Amino acid sequence: MADYGDLLDAATRAVGAACALCRQVQGNMGQMRAILKDDRSPVTIADFGAQALVGHILRERLGDPVHMVGEETSAFLRNPENGTALAATLVAVQEVWPEAGETGLLDAIDVGAGDTDHEGFWTLDPIDGTKGFLRGGQYAVSLAYIERGQVVVAAMGCPNLSPRFDDPFDRPHRHGCLYSAIRGQGTHEVPADQPLAHPVKLLRARREEGQPLTLCTSVEEAHSSQERTAEVMARVGRVGEPAKLDSQAKYAVVARGQADAYLRIPTKAEYAEYIWDHAAGALIAMEAGCAVTDIDGKPLDFSAGRRLTGNRGILAGMVREHGLIQGAIRGLGI
Ligand code: AMP
Ligand code: MG
Repeated sequence: MADYGDLLDAATRAVGAACALCRQVQGNMGQMRAILKDDRSPVTIADFGAQALVGHILRERLGDPVHMVGEETSAFLRNPENGTALAATLVAVQEVWPEAGETGLLDAIDVGAGDTDHEGFWTLDPIDGTKGFLRGGQYAVSLAYIERGQVVVAAMGCPNLSPRFDDPFDRPHRHGCLYSAIRGQGTHEVPADQPLAHPVKLLRARREEGQPLTLCTSVEEAHSSQERTAEVMARVGRVGEPAKLDSQAKYAVVARGQADAYLRIPTKAEYAEYIWDHAAGALIAMEAGCAVTDIDGKPLDFSAGRRLTGNRGILAGMVREHGLIQGAIRGLGI
């Protein structure tokens, strides 16, 4: 069986390096756009670069084989038509991995071309919340290790997330936050730009009685049913202003007690969530004492492949509020 401490150490270094790359690309966005003449490309560069760094660092620290299911593949960059994007990705990666060459970079991205047919495997979303990344809002580098269908190790970097609860989500913080967890050992926090700093255990903030309930939701309205959410919250009552932010950073915001719950109600019955959009966040919230299930109250089933095909949507929250919201969903027959 894998040593979870070693896995977390490698994961934290990998996520920290990927966060540094993302910040750097975000800082040079105007320049990148000028080079590439394509507004989507800077994201692609950061996505590919972040996945390459994670693949490279996991392999370097843990040795081959590294089984990883990443969101990206190298196909786009291997196409000779996209040579400019490949060159720009390499420049970004070399800031952190100076010896990288084109072949090494492409092979490192393909560390993430693994499958879920292993007793233990990694899953990576190199940039979760791409739209937040583009807006200069919230996004997350999200890496988790799944063993026999359970998430056991997680590292999630939120480069723009302030540790201060009264800072707005659309103002990037200088350091950001990186959360990590090992199953059964709690959730810890370090600044995202200091991944090797001494980790501080997350003590979940307590709710004051009678406070309105704060719900964390997506910025992108197509990702969760607005109408259904409004019905559910009207039934729960005592609802305050929602906390809207992109990416799995929502799990961290709930884990640290800044919001009471995260609700994601499918807009289409056939949509099943990707494992890399939830694995790390779910463990980070659970280890901070939250309840994490789908909207039917079922535990998330990470043993079904690349998607959570056995689940509908997401409900994560403080135990009491999770129960209230789940009750409302059941009561409404959603
Ligand atoms: P968020 O920032 O929480 O809205 O989540 C971003 C993630 O939503 C992306 O990584 C996508 O994988 C995922 N996504 C894309 N389309 C949908 C959809 N129709 N419903 C739910 N999630 C989606
Ligand atoms: Mg994602």
